[in-house]
Amino acid sequence: MTTAPTGHTAPTSHTGLLFRDGHVYPGDTGATVLSSGSVLVVGDRIAAVGPTAEVDAAVAALDPAVRDGLRTVDARRSMILPGLVNPHWHELFAMRIPFKGALRPPHDRDDVAAFMALGGDLRQISVVFDSFYDQVDSLTPDEALAVARYSMWTQLRTGVTTLGDVGSLNRPDAMADAALDLGIRFMASTWASDAVCAPGETRFRRTRDADGVLARLETLLDRCAADTTGRLRARPTAVYGTNMTDELGRGFAELCERYDVPFAAHIGALRNEAEVMRTYFGATPVRRFAELGLVTDRLMSVHTGYADEEERKLLLAAGAHLNHSPAKYGGAGETTLTDTRMIPELRRAGLDVSLSTDGTALPISGMAESMRAAWQMFNEMSGDPTEVLPTDALAMATRIPAKGLRWDQEVGSLEAGKQADLVVVPVDDWRYLLNPRPLESFLALGGSMDIDTVVVAGEVLLEGGRSTRLDERQLKDDYLEALGSFSVRSLGIPSDVVQGLLAKETNR
Ligand SMILES: [Zn+2]
Repeated sequence: MTTAPTGHTAPTSHTGLLFRDGHVYPGDTGATVLSSGSVLVVGDRIAAVGPTAEVDAAVAALDPAVRDGLRTVDARRSMILPGLVNPHWHELFAMRIPFKGALRPPHDRDDVAAFMALGGDLRQISVVFDSFYDQVDSLTPDEALAVARYSMWTQLRTGVTTLGDVGSLNRPDAMADAALDLGIRFMASTWASDAVCAPGETRFRRTRDADGVLARLETLLDRCAADTTGRLRARPTAVYGTNMTDELGRGFAELCERYDVPFAAHIGALRNEAEVMRTYFGATPVRRFAELGLVTDRLMSVHTGYADEEERKLLLAAGAHLNHSPAKYGGAGETTLTDTRMIPELRRAGLDVSLSTDGTALPISGMAESMRAAWQMFNEMSGDPTEVLPTDALAMATRIPAKGLRWDQEVGSLEAGKQADLVVVPVDDWRYLLNPRPLESFLALGGSMDIDTVVVAGEVLLEGGRSTRLDERQLKDDYLEALGSFSVRSLGIPSDVVQGLLAKETNR
C-alpha cells in the first residue's frame, strides 16, 4: 500500500490559512450569513471568522512569523461551509459483490420490493444483520484496511470531515487506522449483534454471548479514549432492537456511563418493527430501549419514524437526538418520513433532528444530497417553504449532528476557537448567477461532487476535488484487490466471476 504524493503543495509548510472574501456560512446558532466574509485558520483552529475587513484586521495583528507563513486562498467566487458531519454511516463496501451490488443484472425491470421495503421484513433483516458479525472477523487485517481506506475516502471526497459509524462490516481497528491515515475525524463503533428474530419462531434466539460482543466494544473504547490526535472517538451502537438481548442493551448503557460516550441505534425505523419487537421481546422499540436505560440525552435515535404516543413522550422527555437519511428512503422503499410524519413533528416539538447518509455496499447519497432531500421533503410535507430553510438544512448537516455526537465543543460550526474543519464550494457558474443565496442554488443544482476543498484541523485534505495525500488510483486498486480476495475466500463467490467483474474495472 502506498500513499504517493500527487504533486500538491504540502499544506503543513504553512502556519495557517486565510480563506479571504468569500460567501461564508458559519453554521452558528444565529444562522449568520457573511456575503463578504473570511475565515482565518492558525494551526489546527479557527482564529477568526467575520466580515472581510474585520478578519483582515485580525491578520494584521498576527505575530509576523505567523502572518508571513499564511497561505491565502482567494474565496471571492466560493462558498465556505463548516465541514459536513455525517453521524450515521456503515462501512459495507466489502459486500459490494453479493449484497444488492455488482451481481445484479444491468436492467431493473425484475426488481422486487423486499428487505426494508413495504414496512420491512424484520425477521430477514435480523438474520442477515446477525450474519455480518462473523464476517467482520473473516476479513484479513490488510483487506480490512484497504476496504476502509477506500470507503472512507468517498466520505472525505463528499465533504464529510466528521464521520460516525453505527456498525460496520469491517474491523473497527482498521477503520480507526484508515481515518487517521486519511486525516478525517471518526466516531468509531462495532457491529454488535447477539440475537435474531428468526422466521417461523415466536421468541428471539440468542446467537452469541453478549459478554464477547461487549468485550470487543470495550477494546475499541479503550483505544479511542487513549487517542491523542483529537480525531478519534468511539461510542456503542445497536444495529436494531431485534439483534440485541437485554444483557447486551444493559451492557451498552453501562459502557456509555463508564466511558462518558454517546450511544446510537436504529429504533422504530420500519413500519413492521413494533409488531416484531412485541412478539419476540415483549415490548415495542422505543419502550424497550427506555427500559434498558438507553433512552437518555446520550441517544442518537436513527430513522425513528414509528413510535406510539407514549414512546414519543419518552424521546421528548429524555431530550434524545433524532437522525435520519432522507435521500436514502426512496431507493430502499422505506416510508420513514411520510408514513407517520413523526420526525418533522418531533423536530417542531423541539428535538434535535440531524441528517446522515446511512450506508450500503454501493455509494448512496452524500450529505449534500441529504440536505437537498430534507429541504424539499419537509417543506413539501408541511406546505411551508420555511419549515426547513437552506440554512436549517445546513445546520442539520453540521452543527446539530456534531451535537448528537457530543463533539460540538470542537466541530460543527465556523467559530473562533473551534477546530478548523471546513469545505469550499465554487459558486461562479450559471447556477449561482445573481442569486444572493448561493446555498440555495447549491441545494437545488449542486451536490457532493461540487465540493472542491476539504480542510480538517487546518490541514487541506482535498483540493480541486483531488486528494492532497493519497494516490486515488492506488486506493481503488487496493480496494478491488481486497474485495476480490475476500469475496472468493469468505463469501464463496466463484473466482472466475469475481475476476471477470474486477477486470472490467481495472481496465477502465
Ligand atoms: Zn443505518
